[in-house]
Amino acid sequence: MKILLLGSGGREHALAWKMQQSPQCSKLFVAPGNAGTAAIAQNVNISATDFDAVKKLVLDEGIQMVVVGPEDPLVKGIYDFFKGDGTLTDIPVIGPSKEGARLEGSKEFAKIFLTKNNIPTAAYGSFTKETVEQGCDFLATLKPPYVLKADGLAAGKGVLIIQDLAEAQQELRNMLVGAKFGQASSKVVIEEFLDGIELSCFVLTDGKSYKILPTAKDYKRIGEGDTGLNTGGMGAISPVPFADSAFMQKIEERIVKPTIEGLKQQSIDYKGFIFVGLIKVGDDPYVIEYNVRMGDPETEVVIPRIKSDLVELFKAVAEERLDDAVLEIDSRSATTVMVVSGGYPEDYEKGKVISGLDKAEGSLVFHAGTKEENGKVVTNGGRVIALTSYDDDFREAIKKSYQNIALLHFDKMYYRKDIGFDL
Ligand code: ATP
Repeated sequence: MKILLLGSGGREHALAWKMQQSPQCSKLFVAPGNAGTAAIAQNVNISATDFDAVKKLVLDEGIQMVVVGPEDPLVKGIYDFFKGDGTLTDIPVIGPSKEGARLEGSKEFAKIFLTKNNIPTAAYGSFTKETVEQGCDFLATLKPPYVLKADGLAAGKGVLIIQDLAEAQQELRNMLVGAKFGQASSKVVIEEFLDGIELSCFVLTDGKSYKILPTAKDYKRIGEGDTGLNTGGMGAISPVPFADSAFMQKIEERIVKPTIEGLKQQSIDYKGFIFVGLIKVGDDPYVIEYNVRMGDPETEVVIPRIKSDLVELFKAVAEERLDDAVLEIDSRSATTVMVVSGGYPEDYEKGKVISGLDKAEGSLVFHAGTKEENGKVVTNGGRVIALTSYDDDFREAIKKSYQNIALLHFDKMYYRKDIGFDL
């Protein structure tokens, strides 16, 4: 089977690496891909959101399945584009419909879905420019800190957590009236603050049944000790040591089952991954957010722990027979440490030659922002390389990743040296 994977990050390299191991996969294309995917698949230089170019590629190459990595093409409706096009209808797209993607594309939609399906989540209110003063009054009824979320996609920057009430009210005005995050903040969700520890649960669904994939915890801040600016993610660990079987059962019963049931009841066509961002308050899980795709760098630890054939699982999703499919998980822990360009997540330079990539032993090297230039691999983004390692003991796995990172080099390379140290 010829497969097209859309995206270009570490997530896509990990997915490509796994799909390539399947005897079902005769040829893999990645659009646009990176230097890592170029080494194991055929990169095609088109954007994942250029649906007409994707269509042309699929028809020209006889591609039989499309797997979507990032959220943008999903939120823009690639699933519906394929279903609604006479020449593409029969080609399965692994990812939700446009309606399903609203779980990530609109925070208000997600909150309404959660509430309707009695899924534990923070209490909230939703406000627009017209109701900004009501929003300010609502804030006054809450205890600090105050959580303000732009309704739409804002590249991970649309959430503000503020201690002071007057400042929170001012920011609400900035978002709604001053369009601080453009169209994304034309609606704002205000939430009760939940105090706890975060983790993520990943689910693969065919819209009727589901498989729960390994959990993961990621490290969002740039600085050690979880300080400094938010990033796309600086490292991840799977499984999450504190998510024991009793807690996992709560997640399944209170969150995963009602989520799938809600999709069914609302007739939302959903064939893909659901990433449930959770917070553990006491012993109970609450949903912070849904994402409609895998996380990055969580994919770099979750996918390597799946022993089963991923393409088989995708076929089962497409054919709505996931219930009968087998999901086997590696009992070992996997950890990943992200190596980034100096300056990230603010300004950074690109085009630095990366050396030592072939020296890593006993770890998996997943490329994120890299490209090939004159036969050399150079940096091409903020997050550059994810170094994933396995071990029965997650601390040993982290050690292996750090040993291999020490063999890597590019100008102004940076990474956090404390991934997993809090666990
Ligand atoms: P990202 O793109 O980083 O996944 P996002 O912009 O989609 O995030 P959320 O995941 O909803 O937004 O929120 C970002 C972060 O803000 C969360 O990871 C969490 O740390 C914090 N947060 C969000 N909502 C709450 C809440 N109700 N209580 C406490 N912290 C919260």
